[in-house]
Amino acid sequence: MLNWFRSQVKELGLAPATQLLLRVVRYRIPVVLSNRLWSDKLECPCCNWRGHRFLDYIELGYHVPNAACPRCDSHSRHRALYLWLKNEFQIEKKSGRALIFAPELEDKRRCILAKRNACFPWNSPLGKIIARLSLPD
Ligand SMILES: [Zn+2]
Repeated sequence: MLNWFRSQVKELGLAPATQLLLRVVRYRIPVVLSNRLWSDKLECPCCNWRGHRFLDYIELGYHVPNAACPRCDSHSRHRALYLWLKNEFQIEKKSGRALIFAPELEDKRRCILAKRNACFPWNSPLGKIIARLSLPD
């Protein structure tokens, strides 16, 4: 938490970072308490965490309730991708490797496919080349 706060101070300045920290604490306490007091109703498919609520995603101007897994920090788009890869694409039956690049790969913890594939964050040399490619939407 201290490292996170330091990075926010560096990025935003002391006053906005402190405001964000207070917002995080304000929204996080009820979630942590509900996960300790209430029965499990959610499960993260990425890491198998079980609990009553996901953590809220909090920025200065907004927050998204029930968004991030407390264990692996996956968000709904990561969990949806994981479920699609597993159930629809049936990745377990596939062989070979995939080239995966996305902004969130800057943090390897978020790369649910890192164990099997080559993951390149946008700020890596290859990621910067890929970001400059002109590809149709
Ligand atoms: Zn998880």
